[in-house]
Amino acid sequence: MARTVFIDGAYVDEMDAKVSVFDRGFLFSDSVYEVTAVIEKKLVSWEGHTRRMRRSLGEIGMDLDMSNDHLLEVHRKLLELNEVQEGLVYLQITRGAADRDFAFPDRTIVKPTIVLFTQEKSLIDNQKLDTGLRVISFPDLRWGRSDIKSTQLLYASMVKQKALNQGKDEAWFVKDGFVSEGSSNNTFILSNDGKLITKALSADILAGITRETILEYAKSSGYIIEERPFSVEEAKKSKEAFICSSTTFILPVVEIDDCKIGSGQPGKNTLKLREIYIKNIKQELV
Ligand code: PMP
Repeated sequence: MARTVFIDGAYVDEMDAKVSVFDRGFLFSDSVYEVTAVIEKKLVSWEGHTRRMRRSLGEIGMDLDMSNDHLLEVHRKLLELNEVQEGLVYLQITRGAADRDFAFPDRTIVKPTIVLFTQEKSLIDNQKLDTGLRVISFPDLRWGRSDIKSTQLLYASMVKQKALNQGKDEAWFVKDGFVSEGSSNNTFILSNDGKLITKALSADILAGITRETILEYAKSSGYIIEERPFSVEEAKKSKEAFICSSTTFILPVVEIDDCKIGSGQPGKNTLKLREIYIKNIKQELV
């Protein structure tokens, strides 16, 4: 079944959805995006994604003339039209199409391009839960504003591919001697004395909605949390490690740079936290 996508106010067949070659999203990656997970035909952490989208837009000097209620309506309509049970809704907003120029176009004339599409994907079942992920670290050579969810994803895409080419599963970025985040996820370790450690928010990392939700649920489940940087060496010696993102939820990491973490098997706390996470988000679906 061909999907219906939303583009600039209309619901159209995916074959007819076209963006201008002059679009600044295409020419300059001048755009931001969000990915919202879908389970049981409903949206996960909707409020967090709209909040972060508005912030990203604000940071790049854009505004969107579309209310959150309208955006929610579009998300729901696409889920219904495409009969999505489980998967994601992708939203991208670009600064619009204009003659190529580094300077921003006049926003009273050039309007943002808004695109949404759905993707069916199994999220609750994930084959990597049995084996865990094997990670390779790479220097973090991205721009200095990783807190903005922009579509400049080339370096992240390159390191992910390098990890796959080496027979591994995921790439972690290292900046100033510490793990900043994964190619498309935030990172946690569990210390040998049972503390959950994750890097504090800064311009170096994306403020993951999953990260935020996990911190909330983990605190109320009694975990001691430390929001501070950790190195690859510390991660190698930790008891457990995991990544988190909207579409992976929580996935165990069992190896970094060829060194096993803990027993080399998915960690018990990690799997427990994933269970807690899924149980809780199911109660807050929109
Ligand atoms: N960091 C990066 C670099 C990401 O690309 C993502 C996912 N887009 C995340 C973290 C996780 O964010 P979220 O939990 O909101 O999906």
